[in-house]
Amino acid sequence: MCKPSAHYQFYLMTNSPGHCEYCYLFTTQGKKTYVRVYVNLEKTFKAIDKDIAERLPKKTVFEAASTGDPLAVEHITGGLYETISHFGTLTHTKLIK
Ligand code: SF4
Repeated sequence: MCKPSAHYQFYLMTNSPGHCEYCYLFTTQGKKTYVRVYVNLEKTFKAIDKDIAERLPKKTVFEAASTGDPLAVEHITGGLYETISHFGTLTHTKLIK
């Protein structure tokens, strides 16, 4: 659970190449200064679909960027595009950053 903003969170990456000292990522990921990208999106999408099915008919909210900034590496990974495309096929759910 990822309350209060979402029911669940999942990870496309951790940290950010920006390393801005004022960012919350600096305090939560500061000891791990590297950027890690997750590529197991098919497995992640299956888990998301299962979570949505278990909560039906209620809407399930997911947070995708609590541990990193996927926009910063989108030009390399395309993971956010794939994620948004997958969510576009679903009902009873909402994706937030
Ligand atoms: S998410 Fe934005 S503010 Fe935070 S470290 Fe990355 S570039 Fe800087």
